[in-house]
Amino acid sequence: MSELDPSLRALAEGSIQQLREAVAAYKNVCYANSLGSESMVLVDLIWSFVPEIQVFTVDTGRLFPETYELVDRLQQRYGRAMYVYYPEARELEAWVAANGINGFRDGLNERLTCCHIRKVAPFRRAVAGRGAWVTGIRHGQSASRSLAQRVEWDAEYGLQKISPLLDWTERDVWDYIRAKGLPYNSLHDAGYPSIGCAPCTRAVAPGEDERSGRWWWERAESRECGLHPRRRIAPAAAPADAPAGAPEPLQTSVQLVP
Ligand code: SF4
Repeated sequence: MSELDPSLRALAEGSIQQLREAVAAYKNVCYANSLGSESMVLVDLIWSFVPEIQVFTVDTGRLFPETYELVDRLQQRYGRAMYVYYPEARELEAWVAANGINGFRDGLNERLTCCHIRKVAPFRRAVAGRGAWVTGIRHGQSASRSLAQRVEWDAEYGLQKISPLLDWTERDVWDYIRAKGLPYNSLHDAGYPSIGCAPCTRAVAPGEDERSGRWWWERAESRECGLHPRRRIAPAAAPADAPAGAPEPLQTSVQLVP
């Protein structure tokens, strides 16, 4: 890691140490690769230094073409396979038949159910029977994520949740990506700091909250897919750009996973 400046190298070494401790402490540790900018750092750390951790991702079926391209570039760069989990076909077919191909736009419950079928349920299959999963969340990403711990029990899925990048800033992430010449989603250069499904992600203006482009019609506290349950935090006002007829803001203690 000689290409990194001392402070960034120290951050990276701390994250590697945390990953190694997780492998030593828990069985079958996996990394749920969200394919965002933080994921490029974690894939590099894991496949370069802690390859015992299995890397997987979830293909919801609604990802951007640029995201699929990124999966291919990652696999080619490292010469390793990333396991891809998919939604259960019959469950998805039944939901689309009942709600329409874009039924997630009809309300918060519909959005959460779509996220559950396309993302949460495949994720649940991926982590079943494992001792820990690794995430790329950072304290600076959202009010909810600012309360995350390095290691915490994930009661929803029944395993430990390891977050080795909590102390990294967005700038640290990009300094690492550039210093090491890592691949990344080309949409980041078009104003997309956080990238999920194509119909539920939009570009944001410079300086805007980096997750404000995800489910932008909802209030900030509900903008999670269900993989990272929200913590109780102070209620906030409804967003000024909420469309007429948008669902009422959620109470922050409501469980995301239906
Ligand atoms: Fe469905 Fe949007 Fe959630 Fe993707 S992000 S699973 S399209 S609701």
